[in-house]
Amino acid sequence: MTQAETSFDWIVLGAGPGGYVCALRGAQLGKRVALVEKRPTLGGTCLNVGCIPSKALLHSTEVLTAARDHGSHHGIGGTIEVQLDQLMQHKDEVVAKLVGGVRQLVDGRGITVFTGEGALAGDGEVLVRGEEGEVRLRADAVILATGSRSVELPFLPFDGETILSSDEAIALEAIPEKMVVIGAGAIGLEMGSVWQRLGAEVDVVEFLPRIAAGFDPEISKVAERIFKKQGLRFHKSTKVTGASHGKEGRVVLTAEGPKGEDLSFEADKVLVSVGRAPVSDGLGLEEVGVELDEKKRVKTDGHFRTSVAGVYAIGDLIAGPMLAHKAEEEGVALAEQLAGQAGHVNYFAIPNVIYTDPEIAAVGYGAEAAKEAGHEIRTGRFPIAANGRALATDATEGLVLVHADASTDRLLGVEIVSRNASEMIASAVAHIEYGGSAEDLARTVHAHPTLSEAVKEAALAVDGRALHSL
Ligand code: FAD
Repeated sequence: MTQAETSFDWIVLGAGPGGYVCALRGAQLGKRVALVEKRPTLGGTCLNVGCIPSKALLHSTEVLTAARDHGSHHGIGGTIEVQLDQLMQHKDEVVAKLVGGVRQLVDGRGITVFTGEGALAGDGEVLVRGEEGEVRLRADAVILATGSRSVELPFLPFDGETILSSDEAIALEAIPEKMVVIGAGAIGLEMGSVWQRLGAEVDVVEFLPRIAAGFDPEISKVAERIFKKQGLRFHKSTKVTGASHGKEGRVVLTAEGPKGEDLSFEADKVLVSVGRAPVSDGLGLEEVGVELDEKKRVKTDGHFRTSVAGVYAIGDLIAGPMLAHKAEEEGVALAEQLAGQAGHVNYFAIPNVIYTDPEIAAVGYGAEAAKEAGHEIRTGRFPIAANGRALATDATEGLVLVHADASTDRLLGVEIVSRNASEMIASAVAHIEYGGSAEDLARTVHAHPTLSEAVKEAALAVDGRALHSL
């Protein structure tokens, strides 16, 4: 390879939502960008084994529950059968289409892709080891976007067969009879719902006293009640302590219950969804002096600069919520900053979503966080059951909470449990982004009939004037 073929303005390491979006924005801004990815396809965790395949499975199983559990009441009946291989094939096709689409975008913008494992080699150099050997690349800026991987429990290492990470839980070839999900966060609740809808008995074991602990207790409580009705079984304040072999290839988990009592769970499959850890090993970081924090994330300043000049980091690899849209926004902001523009991420306005049915979505502060930040708040509530569209679409479970500062009415946070909450939250994000008030949100026209009207009504309720509830 000639020097021209290995010299770039920027090298981006990792082609997930952080890395590939940063590369695209850099190319838009006229930079020569190399994108290094060890997977054969682009798109990272999110497109290959995360956001997209999980949402495809959630959708397929929502089609199933709509027909099987609610069909008769619409005059739709008959035998419903699940063909798991076809359901998985649909998911795989969605993933293939999207990762192919990213490749087209990247190629179309003139970004050079290197397939292989990259590591810093000092002085703006990156060594890429691929199937075709080694190549040494050079650039003025190196952007680390190597993402994250599932965390293992020390006494329960992943074996890909019985003890699963989400990578395997999105690709099972048979429906398990009994599944235990350890961890009731986004991934546990989403994948637990998928397999429960498909017919598995699912026990969700959570160390904390509530599920969906990233949200306010009121939201967790409402969500738990709904998911229990659907058939998920929750064991909160329960700590899994060990595992042994059971009958017929099953595993027996031992646990300590809320009162210190001994519990045990038998399962054909155990999904360990207790969090994700940054991929900061094997990148030559220590050798060149890139500092890590106590969680092995790359330390960055407010401009994504690491402790080594010319080396930057974004996405799951650095502090902050491990979310695809956070990684993307950081990718764009960094690209713009490196090109001399004023790229910026408003971390307060990053929505957080769990894609169960109903979905859970929030932006800004929850009630507890708002009070901790020193705000006196007024909260408007609106039950989804009072929304016309919800009634017409079998989506009556849930509520909306709108928190505003008691003296200024500034919108501080919105929390939603509802079908389509992931879409409904967008208007709240926009108001928070612009520094709007609950009054602004309440006066924004929301189309009728939509579930989003519940957001407007909850904003009206901040001032005690919701129109469609008493
Ligand atoms: P990643 O997407 O992890 O990409 C990093 C890339 O770097 C990978 O492709 C990896 O192969 C590559 N890489 C690593 N080391 C090297 C190396 N040395 N050389 C070359 N390449 C390397 N987030 C949401 O916002 N919404 C969701 O609905 C959602 N659902 C999820 C569901 C699941 C099951 C999982 C696991 C995650 C989900 N996430 C979701 C989280 C989301 O996937 C991550 O936050 C996001 O992918 C982070 O983007 P990233 O670019 O930082 O890293």
